[in-house]
Amino acid sequence: MGRANLFGMGKGALATLAAERGQPTFRARQIYGWLYRRRVRGIDSMANLPKPFRAALAEEFDLHWPDVGERTLSFDGTRKYLFRLEDGATIEAVYIPEDDRRTICISTQAGCPLKCAFCLTGIAGYKRNLKAGEILGQVATVMDEHEAAATHPHRREADPFPWNVVVMGMGEPLLNSDATLEALRILMDDEGFGVPPRKLTLSTVGILPALEKLAREPVRPNLAISLHAPDPGLRRALMPIEEKYPMGAVVDAALRYPIPRGGLVTFEYVLLGGVNDSVPHARALARRLGGKRVKVNLIPLNPAPEIPFKAPAPEAVDAFGAALAAAGLAVSVRRPRGRDILAACGQLHLKKGADAPAPARP
Ligand code: SAH
Repeated sequence: MGRANLFGMGKGALATLAAERGQPTFRARQIYGWLYRRRVRGIDSMANLPKPFRAALAEEFDLHWPDVGERTLSFDGTRKYLFRLEDGATIEAVYIPEDDRRTICISTQAGCPLKCAFCLTGIAGYKRNLKAGEILGQVATVMDEHEAAATHPHRREADPFPWNVVVMGMGEPLLNSDATLEALRILMDDEGFGVPPRKLTLSTVGILPALEKLAREPVRPNLAISLHAPDPGLRRALMPIEEKYPMGAVVDAALRYPIPRGGLVTFEYVLLGGVNDSVPHARALARRLGGKRVKVNLIPLNPAPEIPFKAPAPEAVDAFGAALAAAGLAVSVRRPRGRDILAACGQLHLKKGADAPAPARP
């Protein structure tokens, strides 16, 4: 039987672990710091723990990050990581260098059960929820590989290129809210990864009970809501989840969500050529969101042979954005990154094979 992984355990679990072994409570904090702030790769590197305690820990636990199966580099510097998990499930994460920052896009499920009509992850099927350690391990691996090169001792503090983390990879984070929330707490914790909440964004279709739970967390990330249509009828055709969590209620919940530092909630809108990208669609969207303190992020579809939609014409993207801006909405258009390696938004999926999630049944 495999030993349990320390990596992924939060403060509460580590406190219990220390108490059960007759250790003072500060030991839990020490282990936590080694795991998530120093990010050591073995229990034996936890230098300030007494040797006998380290040995006892190592008998019951191990410490490992998910294995990197493959790295693929794009012409634009984007890097895609394929992780192979203990049960053979595979997931992907993406590293995206930008002019003034670097972003890590992480997955929360192996596959996705939502089956949005334009998303390859959904088309490929669903396998399982990730554990907190599997979510955090993606961040740890990417950060580690891009910080190892730096030799400056204070680089982490003085880094001119801060890290951003976006929970926009494979899966629906709020269908795996326990593990996702635990991972987010450790990511945003100063004694953990120390990613400031305003540099972390969670994207969701709006699983309402879990969204309310996230809103009640003492420390919360930014929120992006996948809307993709101006009205429930069209949204239902693109996103089956509309049946369960209708967009009216999702928009209301998102508007109540306390964004870090008084920032704006983002609504994501994938533009599908000839389907939801006309100026009347934009006007209908503006009527729904107009006057609210929100941002709209337009995402031109990243097409693929398996996706039964086409990218919008560039003029349609411009006209759509202009119509929203004319209605007073803050609009941005997402530039695709890593397109050549299928790492662009919505392209994370795995080729069919033994390790890929089972294909969805019709
Ligand atoms: N399940 C979450 C997070 C993962 S998807 C969510 O739906 O928000 C992250 C974003 O990529 C979502 O807005 C999703 O709709 C979008 N997306 C999916 N497939 C895409 C594609 N082929 N091209 C562009 N964006 C896509």
